Amino acid sequence: MTRIKLKIDGVALDADADLTIMEAARRAGIYIPALCSHPDLPPFHSGSGSQFVYQGPARTDGSIDPYEGCGMCLVEVEGDGIRTACDTLVQEGMTVFASTPEINDQRQENLKKILSGHPHACLVCPQQEGCGQKSCSSNVPEDERCCPNFNVCELKKVSEYVGMRIDIPPYVPQGLSVVDDEPFFRRDYNLCIACTRCVRVCNDVRGVGALAFTTAEGRLIVGTTGPTLKDSGCRFCGACVEVCPTGALMDKDIVWSEREEALVPCKNACPAGIDIPLYVRLMAEGDFAGAAAVVREKVPFPATLGRVCFHPCEDVCRRKMLGKPVAIRELKRCAADLDEGFWKERDAVADRTGKKTAIVGSGPAGMTCAYYLARQGHSVVIFEALAHPGGMLRYGIPEYRLPKETLDREIDYIRQFGVEIKTDTRVESLDDIFEQGFDSVFLAMGLQGGARIGIEGEDLPEVVDGISFLRKANSKKSMELGPRVAVIGGGNVAMDASRTALRVGAKEVTILYRRGEAEMPAYVEEIEQAVSEGVKIEFLAIPRKISKTNGRLDMECLRMALGDADMSGRRRPVPVENSRFNMVFDDVIVAVGQKSSVPEGFDVSLGAKGYPVIDPETLSTSRKGVFAGGDLVSGASTVVEAIAMGKKAAAAMDQFLGGEGNIERRLIEQQRPNGFLGKANGFSDLKRVTVQTLNVSESIGNFDEIVCGYDRDQAMNEAKRCLRCDLRLEISSPVMPPEMWTEFTAENIESVPNTEGVFQLFDADKRLICIKGAMNMFEGIEEKLRSNEKTRFFLWEEDPMYTKRESELLQQYMQEHGAVPDENAAELDDDLY
Ligand code: FAD
Repeated sequence: MTRIKLKIDGVALDADADLTIMEAARRAGIYIPALCSHPDLPPFHSGSGSQFVYQGPARTDGSIDPYEGCGMCLVEVEGDGIRTACDTLVQEGMTVFASTPEINDQRQENLKKILSGHPHACLVCPQQEGCGQKSCSSNVPEDERCCPNFNVCELKKVSEYVGMRIDIPPYVPQGLSVVDDEPFFRRDYNLCIACTRCVRVCNDVRGVGALAFTTAEGRLIVGTTGPTLKDSGCRFCGACVEVCPTGALMDKDIVWSEREEALVPCKNACPAGIDIPLYVRLMAEGDFAGAAAVVREKVPFPATLGRVCFHPCEDVCRRKMLGKPVAIRELKRCAADLDEGFWKERDAVADRTGKKTAIVGSGPAGMTCAYYLARQGHSVVIFEALAHPGGMLRYGIPEYRLPKETLDREIDYIRQFGVEIKTDTRVESLDDIFEQGFDSVFLAMGLQGGARIGIEGEDLPEVVDGISFLRKANSKKSMELGPRVAVIGGGNVAMDASRTALRVGAKEVTILYRRGEAEMPAYVEEIEQAVSEGVKIEFLAIPRKISKTNGRLDMECLRMALGDADMSGRRRPVPVENSRFNMVFDDVIVAVGQKSSVPEGFDVSLGAKGYPVIDPETLSTSRKGVFAGGDLVSGASTVVEAIAMGKKAAAAMDQFLGGEGNIERRLIEQQRPNGFLGKANGFSDLKRVTVQTLNVSESIGNFDEIVCGYDRDQAMNEAKRCLRCDLRLEISSPVMPPEMWTEFTAENIESVPNTEGVFQLFDADKRLICIKGAMNMFEGIEEKLRSNEKTRFFLWEEDPMYTKRESELLQQYMQEHGAVPDENAAELDDDLY
C-alpha cells in the first residue's frame, strides 16, 4: 500500500493512502469526536434509506433520502475547507486541523441539534455526579432525564468533549415507542439519535437487514423492517446494542459490569473452558474435523462428554430465550464420533523430563491429569484398584448411556502417550509410592462408598447401596435380582440404578423419594427417561424399617410433607403423623449419596467430610508433592468438573516437577470469526433438531446405547441455530474522548495549586485507587507521592466545596462499580475501629 505523509494538528504522520482522515488520526492516537462513525462500520452514507420502518407495531412511511452524518468529526483541510474526517481520504502533503475555534463552534451547533431531540436534562445538570438518577432534586420529569447508561454513555462523553451550548432547546418528549416485549433487548426510540450505526452494523457487517431508516417530516427515523424483530429477520446477535452510542438499545438481562461473561455464557459455564462458540460455528460450516480439534484442545474425553456431560453450557445458552437451547452436548458427540484426528500430529509428547508421577485412580480426573502430564514429557503410572480403568465412567454410568467401546477408545488414546495403567492395584500407602521413586502423586480416588440411611434392616443381604449395585451390574457379573425392586433416593445414581435394575431382571421398580418432584436432584432428562421405561416414583415417602418375612422384604414407610427450606434451598421433608404404610419388595437399592475413604497410609490432612484438604489454586494437599482432585475433593460432582480438576492439577504438578505449568496446546489455527451472518428466513423459530433414540421397546432388556446421535446434516442444522453471541465481543470499542490523566511525578505535582479541591489517583492500568477532597490539594497529593506506591496517574480539580464534590464523585463511582475505590474502602474500614 502506498504510504503518504500528512499533518494533523501539527503532528507529522505516515499513513496508508486508502485511509480516511479519521482512521489515520485514530491510528496516530489523535482524537476526533464522532457519534455516527465507528471503527468497524462503513461511513454514514454507505447505505440508502428505506421507504418505511417500524418502531414497534407503528409503521412510518417516508423517503429514502441518505443520512447526512452527525457532524461531529468536522475538520479543516488546508486549502479545501471544512470536511468530515470519517469519509475524506488522506492525501499526500495534506494539512488537517482537528480543533479550531470555528470547527469547535460548528460541532457544538450540530450537537445542539442532536441533543434537542434527546432527553438531556441530566447531561447539563450541575449536580449530575452526585445524583442517583432515581429521584431528581430539580424535579425534572422522568422522560426528560438521561437513561441508566448515564455513567458509561458514549453520547455523554462526546458531548462533554465537544462542549454543550447553554442555548440547547429543552427536550420535548415525543412519546415514541418503547419496545420492551421482545427477547434480549429493550429499544427506547425516545433515546435514539438516529446515528444509523445499528442499521449499518445489521446490514453492512452482519448482512441481516433487520433494521433500516427512513426520512419523514424532515426527520431521520430508525426502526425495524417488520413490526417485530422476528418479522424483521433479526438473528439476535446483539451487534446493534454493542454499537449504540446511547441507551436507545439496551440488553435486558446483562449488567454492564458482568457483560464479558454474560454475553457468551456457554463458554463461561464450561468448567473445562471449551471454546463452545467456535466449535459450534465450525460445525455449522461443515468443518467437523476442526470442531473436534477445538474440543480436544481442552479435554481428552470428547466422545464421553458428548454423551454424559450434564451440559451446564446448555443451561445458560441464550437461545433458550427463543425456545430450546442449542444442543451443544449432542454437537460435541457428533464432532467426536466423526473425528478424523488431523490434529494428532500436533498432540505429540514433549521431550522426556526424567520425572515420575503416580496417579491413584483412573476415573476422568486421574486419566485427564495423566494425559496432560505425559504430554509434558513426564513418566506417568496410574494405579487402579478395579479390573479396568475409567472409574465411574465404567463402573457407575450404565452402558446404555456410555458404551464401553467409546470409553475404551478414549482411554487407549491416552495410553498412547506412554501412560501405564496398573489395574487390580489398590494403593494403601503413599510411602510405598514414594519409595518406588515417584516425584509426585495425584490422588483421584473419587467416592467409592455408598452412603447409608441408618434404618433397621439395612444390613440384610437383599439391601445394597447404589454404587455397589451399579459396579456389579457394569462388571457384567451375574445379578440375582427379584421381580420387585425399591430404589431409595432421588438423584442421578437412583435413576441409573432403577433403569439398570429393569435391565438385569427386575419386573417392577419403584423409587421412593422423600421430597416432591420439583425438589428431585436428578436431571430432568434422567427422570423422564426412567419414567418412560416404566419406573414408578413414590414421592414424599421414606423407609423406616425393613424386615424379611417369608422370603420377601417388608418395608415400613412414612408419608412426608414439605416444611421450610433447608440449607440447600430445597424444602425440608417432615413426617406426617400417623402416616405409616407398608410396601413389599424383593430387593432394595439405597442410592442416597457417596462416601470417601482415604486410606490412613496416605497421611494427608482430611477435612470434615473426610475429603483431603487442598489449596484451591494448586490442588496440593498437606503432604509435599501430593495433589488431589475430582470427586474425592469436590464431593459427588460431574465428569466435566473432574476433567477440569485433573487439568488444573496437571498444570500445578508440571510446575512442581520443574516445568512452566503451561499444559495447553493449540491443535487448530486460531481463526478470527468473520462477522457476516446473512439473512436466514425463520431463524428465530428454528426448532432444536430432535436426536434419534431407541424407543422403549427396543431398549428395555438390553444395554444398547439409547441415544443414536446426529448425522452430519442434522448436526449442521442444529449448529446453525446458534445465535453467535461470541461475535459481539469481536466488535471494537468506540473511540472515546481522551481522559485527562497526568503522570504521577514530583514535577507534575508542582503544577497543582495550593487550594481546596478534589484529586483522584489511578494505578498503572488506569484503575481508580482513591478519590480525595483536600483543603490544600498540592499538600494532599504530595503526601500521596510519599505514601502511595501504586499510583501512576492523577487528576485534580479545584472546588471550594471539596467535601461535597468528593462525595459526588464517590457516589458516581459507586453507581458504576457497586463499591467505592479500594483506598476509600480501606479508610472506611479504619473508621470503624
Ligand atoms: P471416579 O470416576 O470415581 O474414579 C476414581 C477411581 O479411583 C476409581 O476407578 C476407583 O476404583 C479408583 N480408586 C479408588 N481408591 C483407590 C485406591 N486406593 N487405589 C487405586 N485406585 C483407587 N457425571 C456426569 O457428568 N454425567 C453423568 O451422566 C454422570 N452419571 C453418573 C452416574 C453414576 C451412577 C455415578 C456414580 C456418577 C455419575 N456422574 C456423572 C458423576 C461422575 O461420574 C463423577 O463425578 C466422576 O466420575 C468423578 O471422577 P473421578 O475421577 O474423581 O473419580
